[in-house]
Amino acid sequence: MAETIREAYVRRNPKSAELYPKFREVFPTGVSHDMRVTDPFPLVLAHGQGARKWDVDGNEYIDYGLGSASLLLGHAHPAVVQALISAAPQGSHFGQPVATELEWGERVCNLIPCAEKVRFVASGAEATMLAMRIARGYTGKEKIVRWESHYHGWHDYAMPGTLPPFGQPASIGIPQGAVDSVIVLPPDLHQLEHVLANDPTIAGVITEGSGASYGSVPLPPGFVTGVRELTQRYGVVMILDEVITGFRWSPGGLQQTLGIVPDLCTLAKILTGGLPGGAVAGRDEVMQVIAQTGDPEHDRFQRVSHGGTFNANPYCAATGNAALSIVATGEMQSQADRMAERLRQGLREIINRQEIPACVYGEASTFHVYFGARSIAGLDATTLKSIPGPVQNGFRQALQVRGVDLMSRCSGVLSGVHTPADIDQSLEAFDAAIQAMLAEGLVQHG
Ligand code: PMP
Repeated sequence: MAETIREAYVRRNPKSAELYPKFREVFPTGVSHDMRVTDPFPLVLAHGQGARKWDVDGNEYIDYGLGSASLLLGHAHPAVVQALISAAPQGSHFGQPVATELEWGERVCNLIPCAEKVRFVASGAEATMLAMRIARGYTGKEKIVRWESHYHGWHDYAMPGTLPPFGQPASIGIPQGAVDSVIVLPPDLHQLEHVLANDPTIAGVITEGSGASYGSVPLPPGFVTGVRELTQRYGVVMILDEVITGFRWSPGGLQQTLGIVPDLCTLAKILTGGLPGGAVAGRDEVMQVIAQTGDPEHDRFQRVSHGGTFNANPYCAATGNAALSIVATGEMQSQADRMAERLRQGLREIINRQEIPACVYGEASTFHVYFGARSIAGLDATTLKSIPGPVQNGFRQALQVRGVDLMSRCSGVLSGVHTPADIDQSLEAFDAAIQAMLAEGLVQHG
């Protein structure tokens, strides 16, 4: 009997296996992020360089996870590493402005079309939380419209509508008041217009620029532009969540690609060169709702308050400046997009040749494999996100044991340092992984 995918995974990773019970003693389910839970145990990583990373057992991977899509420049890019090394001995934080923060903010304003003003925060989730508060504070209204299955972080206002069934928040422990302040809609401009025309309590509309989960549920053509038109017409704040698309879709993010200017956008991941951090950027008039005027009445009762110990700390400002100076040329994005297209094309050929009911899609430097249909046309978010757990896990592990790693689900992202040789080597692994899945009955010809 040939070795199963799971047996190969266990055989190759004795150190990760040994560490897992110890992780479980310290962390609920043994992890620090829900998405890292893996059956029978997650890999423990050791180091990364460029498009590759290595686990504690010394296994090498061509990486399509890239720090949850934060590493457009690849792991440990020399300029980012050098920036961090230079900043390290200067002190980690002052809780006061630093000159590199100003440079970082100016870079954001120069690159991102809507960015007339910026506030740095400590994560993508903090960015969406602040953006929602700004929208509420600016309009004096309470409700935020969001789309089924879009991900905006894990805070209370981001949880309603993230997972099917969309009427039920994706976590317990969310106050009903938070749930009631969010309206979850399927991505349909007619429904948005209906709500905007009839509900006078809408503060803003938040949209994951790529479509849900870095584009695994693509938006209809023209959708984001349509949201811009409707939010403008009805005078509500458009928040474009560019935590994934920012600096990746183009140096100016999705908004530059589409030629639209949202009122606010949220940024993280690539913003810092792959360290912790995020930002809200937007129109001056809207962002000014955070500003203090010195008038005690205004400052205490009429403005949006915002804090955060590690906002714009010197280490992240340094790596952010290094990353954004490279990202600004657009070369990394072009290379990543070209390699993603080569990978998607190669994957489609493999799927066609092996005659399995699956399909490959994805914009910019992302790719998604859907197991269950030859096209995703007409499939809704619930269906697209319902690839059975054993298939997702089997696919990822069949690739891992062949030296390739994905992000999560059946998706991945590329960097500007992936090469044609990386793609071709990966395609061999994909081919063999699908054969292994066929052999185990995880997928069938058809
Ligand atoms: N928005 C989007 C579109 C994201 O993809 C993510 C993270 N994957 C977030 C917000 C939250 O960012 P963070 O994990 O840095 O809090």
